[in-house]
Amino acid sequence: MFDYIKNRNIAVDNKKLTFFGGIASNHYLNEKITPKLTLPKKNDIENQLFLNTPILKTRGLGIGKVISKKLAKLNLFSIKDLLYHFPRTYIDLSKVKKICDVREGEEVTVTGVVNIVDKSRTRSRKDLLKIVIWDKTGYITGIWFNQNYIADTLKKGTFVAYSGIVKYKFNELQISNPLYDILDIKGAKEQIHTGRIIPKHPSTAGISTKFLRRIFNKTLSRYGIFTDPLPYYIKDRQEFLTSLSNCIKQVHFPVSFKLSQIARNRLIYNELFFLQLGLALKKRAQTIELRSFKMDVNKLEIKEFIDSLLFELTSAQKRVISEIKEDLSKSVPMNRLLQGDVGSGKTVVALISMIISSLNSYQSAIMVPTEVLAWQHYKNFKKILKGSDIDVFLLSGSILPKERSKTLRKIKEGENQIIVGTHALIQEGVNFSNLGLIIVDEQHRFGVTQRKKLKSKGKYPHVLTMSATPIPRTITQTIYGDLDVSTIDEMPPGRGEVETIFYKPDEREKAYDLIKIQLNEGRQAFIICPLIEDSNLLQVKSVIKEAEQLQQVIFKDYKVGIIHGQLPHKNREEIMEKFENEKLNVLISTTVIEVGIDIKNATVMLIENADRFGLAQLHQLRGRIRRGEYKSYCLIFADIKTDEAFRRINAFLSTEDGFEIANKDLEIRGEGEIFGERQWGLPDLKISSIVRDKEILNRVRKDAFSIIENDIKLSSPITKVLINYLNFEYPESKFWQT
Ligand code: ADP
Ligand code: MG
Repeated sequence: MFDYIKNRNIAVDNKKLTFFGGIASNHYLNEKITPKLTLPKKNDIENQLFLNTPILKTRGLGIGKVISKKLAKLNLFSIKDLLYHFPRTYIDLSKVKKICDVREGEEVTVTGVVNIVDKSRTRSRKDLLKIVIWDKTGYITGIWFNQNYIADTLKKGTFVAYSGIVKYKFNELQISNPLYDILDIKGAKEQIHTGRIIPKHPSTAGISTKFLRRIFNKTLSRYGIFTDPLPYYIKDRQEFLTSLSNCIKQVHFPVSFKLSQIARNRLIYNELFFLQLGLALKKRAQTIELRSFKMDVNKLEIKEFIDSLLFELTSAQKRVISEIKEDLSKSVPMNRLLQGDVGSGKTVVALISMIISSLNSYQSAIMVPTEVLAWQHYKNFKKILKGSDIDVFLLSGSILPKERSKTLRKIKEGENQIIVGTHALIQEGVNFSNLGLIIVDEQHRFGVTQRKKLKSKGKYPHVLTMSATPIPRTITQTIYGDLDVSTIDEMPPGRGEVETIFYKPDEREKAYDLIKIQLNEGRQAFIICPLIEDSNLLQVKSVIKEAEQLQQVIFKDYKVGIIHGQLPHKNREEIMEKFENEKLNVLISTTVIEVGIDIKNATVMLIENADRFGLAQLHQLRGRIRRGEYKSYCLIFADIKTDEAFRRINAFLSTEDGFEIANKDLEIRGEGEIFGERQWGLPDLKISSIVRDKEILNRVRKDAFSIIENDIKLSSPITKVLINYLNFEYPESKFWQT
């Protein structure tokens, strides 16, 4: 509690605040924040809004248009951004040496009085400035080229600190381009460039780290004091003894490495706390406020259907189906992520879930990322459900207008239907009569807004998202606090193994020979050429040309089909069908077949330019083969130019396990790419790392969730303050709302 009041001492006086659209007026900002004892006020947290003030509108930081543009490149727009732009590394210049103890080659800090200022010109006509300082034990010379203005600051008699690497030249100790701070006579003025642990903030072209340090120092001394909304009993913990404001200061300008680490952990705690609090609120809303459809999951027909399948479900499939059933039988909307490696059999789980929905007279919709996959699911479901009274519909870009409006009419009125579709499902004009369940297949291919849109087509339907690009196990539990996770961790029996082989450019023939051996045994092959779906015609032509070359020369004795995104839908369907029915031996394709496609007899895949694919994408592609009992081969050609590509290809060659691939992908790409705003709608993390800070995260999660669980009505003042603060912290993303 004490901490709280202590912080309030220097908090903002309410009366002086006027808001213009959430931004405090300049009138207030121009004033010095002076320490003053006030009691906590109701709008305590809202006072913090001034931190959202745009940098340009603040005075006293010396930032004009030019610099604010440069800062924008670093994503720094507001005071808050500045305060939370933390250094990546530090240099320890904390030990001040006597000049007589300095040795050549050392990086040191020395202090002394300016003794000589000498301006001259070099032979190459540059300005040369030498400023010699003296500390009673010796002299040392600072050297600058073309920066004579420094002489205006470092005048004779000024007490100054230099930091830098020492050289011995022309019989004198020199530091070229030293960092310097002016000290007052007693050396008491704050040093930010020398004589301490020096922060190195991430910078950008045109802004030096030195300049950034000055800005951060000014920002901190002017605005770096604010309230900490955490409940007092959390703050009372030992490791929390210093205030939030001080922590921010310690991370920017640490007194010691130890303190800065403690401070950093504290800020990590705070950041993750509000993330978890948001997730706890989301989960609460799902369980308390929203009402979904209670389904009878024990109908006889369900068992009958499962018994009628051509295979027996794996025990992992059985387990996840019972988890899903449990969810569907409740009125709390299901929000479940189904993870399972490529080929582990997620589709049948989805289908069984949809059949349950149908048997309860609700509609269900499954959204998939590509046309080709939509068609495959559609045909597959239709075949399986032939003779039942469950209707299956398809909505995708290639459906003709007449057919489409017929379908739209039917799903607007019908019940118990299953609707398969692409993005076409979330378009305007698509209305369902009673959507009970939605499934998003290959969820990583959709953004958070698309998933939300589909959800909004119903009234709190149950939601199942499926992914073959798993998020590492350790992380799912903690990060997606509002999401339940089911995992299929077992492959259906009787799958042959897959061998992945890398070929050098001069080994092309070898790869083709291997393919031919497989073809002669009756198997089929994919050849994948990377081509972005909507790329220009020129590129398409080159793929087609190459394909024709393969068709006419290398594989002239075989039947070869070519498929790509620019092909009219009808032709694409035809070719896929031919390949499925083994009327084609080789299918040359762009990535249109990347996800989902299931053809058991295809056992070879050749990937051209494999370096252009992401790791998860490569794994997906490889998932197209090894679907039957035969041994499969994934052959890759790659032009490895970057270190990253090297690591990717290496990882791909070293494992077939989707979870391991996911871990490696995380290592290579970094978590920002994987947990970001676009995928999950979660805010970007400024200081913490889900992977590195796992331990803190576990603790945070308990703290945050127990606050909400113990105050399910959200009525206690502590909860209210926290929610208020959440609104302040993430004014735009509102990720905690369902
Ligand atoms: P994914 O999880 O990648 O979506 P699919 O659902 O497409 O995988 O399944 C891959 C193949 O495995 C399909 O041909 C499917 O019929 C088959 N399959 C699914 N479950 C089983 C099982 N329990 N036993 C045998 N084959 C199965
Ligand atoms: Mg699938």
